[in-house]
Amino acid sequence: MANGKRSWAEPFKIKMVELLKMTTPAQRAKAIKEAGYNTFLLKSEDVYIDLLTDSGTSAMSDVQWAGLMMGDEAYAGSKNFYHLEDAVKKYYGYKYLIPTHQGRGAENILSQVMIKKGDIVPGNMYFTTTRLHQELAGGTFVDVIIDEAHDSQNMHPFKGNIDLDKLEKVIKKHGAAKIPYICVAVTVNLAGGQPVSMGNLKELRALTNKHGIKIMLDMTRIAENAYFIQQREKGYARRSVASLVKEICSYTDGATFSGKKDALVNIGGFLALNDKQKYEEASNLVVVYEGLHTYGGLAGRDMEAMAIGIGESVGDEHMKARIGQVIYLGEEMLKRNIPIVQPIGGHGIFIDAKQFLPHLKQIQFPAQTLAAELYEDAGIRTMERGIVSAGRNAKTGDHYYPKLELVRLTIPRRVYTQAHMDVIAESVERVYERRNKIKGLDMIFEPQYLRFFQAKFKKLG
Ligand SMILES: *Cc1c(COP(=O)(O)O)cnc(C)c1O
Repeated sequence: MANGKRSWAEPFKIKMVELLKMTTPAQRAKAIKEAGYNTFLLKSEDVYIDLLTDSGTSAMSDVQWAGLMMGDEAYAGSKNFYHLEDAVKKYYGYKYLIPTHQGRGAENILSQVMIKKGDIVPGNMYFTTTRLHQELAGGTFVDVIIDEAHDSQNMHPFKGNIDLDKLEKVIKKHGAAKIPYICVAVTVNLAGGQPVSMGNLKELRALTNKHGIKIMLDMTRIAENAYFIQQREKGYARRSVASLVKEICSYTDGATFSGKKDALVNIGGFLALNDKQKYEEASNLVVVYEGLHTYGGLAGRDMEAMAIGIGESVGDEHMKARIGQVIYLGEEMLKRNIPIVQPIGGHGIFIDAKQFLPHLKQIQFPAQTLAAELYEDAGIRTMERGIVSAGRNAKTGDHYYPKLELVRLTIPRRVYTQAHMDVIAESVERVYERRNKIKGLDMIFEPQYLRFFQAKFKKLG
């Protein structure tokens, strides 16, 4: 009791556990070799700590599990739909709700009802599925995020912010009539879980109102964004996460949502709108792609679990523990001089593989190599976000060489303990100590589409 330190801990206790298989170094060396040094091709049961993604991997509460038993599996007008609609109105304030099987289902419907061929859709850095649906609907995405977002060491507290000058230039160049909406992501996934400030959203609302342009939110991690506003933005420290979430939504006209992140469910999503006419068009279209507008591809029980999860996700104590755990892991990395993206983001830690393995050329796949090494060392599964994910230029056939060559350690919500975080940091340190001995990889199989999922490699040297 020397230093008067007061520790914090998770606001829950564990009622059920899932046992993990412990593997030996020899078993892991064999498993990763058979997987072609691609962590996507590992069997989940051979993984000890799975940081591949935070999507659909969170732990539900006992109340959510009880909600599954309350599923009203009627084809039309399920009770659970109305619970979900109540939750969306209460916590987000949107008027109309259309459930979808997950986020990309909502992106498809939104893009089809809003975007015409030749339209321009500005956004704060792209997300893979979001951009693809905008393009499939005939639109062109334009990045209007602030420049700081592209720099892994820039300490700007709101690296997800929209650059309003960039946006004004886009409006001037193409005309407001060609811009159906701006797509704002909170937080920005591909920038490393970086938030948008409330001040930036207010200014964006004023600018778009002037031009009659709508704002559509990608609100997949909105509670995490709200927590960062509470912690970092002047004037918001005493506000609850729940009230900040609702205020963010109030500056927008609608939203797409993947329930697999913030909302603590394994599957689910929705489209929310304030405009009645657009809602009617969308609720007709959802019948074609997802299911009737009162279930949208979800079982009644899934809607119930998501309705409950939304309420849990905006709790201050929940969010403090969620982001607190990510920050704890990030700080353990920094203590060990591991090069990571800063400031630490909301849903994971991103290791800068170019700095970690400076002796490797980018074509020797440093992030892919590091992800494979982390699995071999302690059975930790991570994901490459670098040259393999970037793919090739369709015209020239050359690799894209992205500036950021990262390994992503994504933290599922309520799943792992602080001891797991220590094991992760120690394993990364162990690999860092022997980094000079690490040779790169050679790609021996390359699929045509989204190669990072299925490509195979062999060790060099
Ligand atoms: C996951 C995600 C989506 C897509 O949601 P799915 O449920 O995976 O279809 C969209 N935007 C962001 C920012 C995401 O992280």
